[in-house]
Amino acid sequence: MAAIGRFQKGDDIFYAKVVDGELYRLQGDVFGSPTFQKKPIPLKGVKTLVPVTPSKVIAVGLNYADHARETGKAPPKEPLFWLKAPTSLIPDGGKIEIPFPDHRTDYEAELAVIIGRRVRNVTEAAAARYIFGYTAAQDITDRTIQESESQWSRCKSFDTFTPLGPYIETKIDPHDLTIQLFQNGQLRQNSNTSQLIFNVYQLVSFISFNMTLLPGDVILTGTPSGVGPITSGDRLEVRIQGLAPLVNTVK
Ligand code: MG
Repeated sequence: MAAIGRFQKGDDIFYAKVVDGELYRLQGDVFGSPTFQKKPIPLKGVKTLVPVTPSKVIAVGLNYADHARETGKAPPKEPLFWLKAPTSLIPDGGKIEIPFPDHRTDYEAELAVIIGRRVRNVTEAAAARYIFGYTAAQDITDRTIQESESQWSRCKSFDTFTPLGPYIETKIDPHDLTIQLFQNGQLRQNSNTSQLIFNVYQLVSFISFNMTLLPGDVILTGTPSGVGPITSGDRLEVRIQGLAPLVNTVK
């Protein structure tokens, strides 16, 4: 498998493999041993959906040293994570809505891990076996609320606050990928996943000792430095090496 996406045509929702812009429909369980149709499907009227329907979205914070520095917070000694509402997810091409225009609302480009098999209490060494793949994400944040509260679920769970996709790349090494955010074509964030304080396998292991992870669950791995505010009309693009770009606009 390579890039896998979730799509809709009329009432029909399905997974497909994406190869050179063509879609090959998947048969069977996407997290099992699926097969793929040999002929591509016609693209007319096909909409790209959020690639998974997770039981939970877990977001990791302050996981790049340069971002911890810009927030004035000390890097955590153990991974710091919270839950984002799955209802905050939107697909590639979806519109981000700012709930409080008088608040500061920020972009945050992040690499997302997609879990492929139910897992708890897994070691770092075995964690890779439970990962389905990787995709691009944003952890949109109402910074004004974040700074007024010690819990971070509210400021990060508004509808549209988690752009995810467009596809899941199943064959990629997550630990040396450039990660960039462009706002209206201007480079705002520019780092590499080699700079993660806790790497992907350490995160999956740590989280699995705190809660059971299910197929389709999403882990956002944290954002590098360069976060900044969004305004209506912005075009935001997350580019992660080896993954299709994630593009969203702000309503
Ligand atoms: Mg974040």
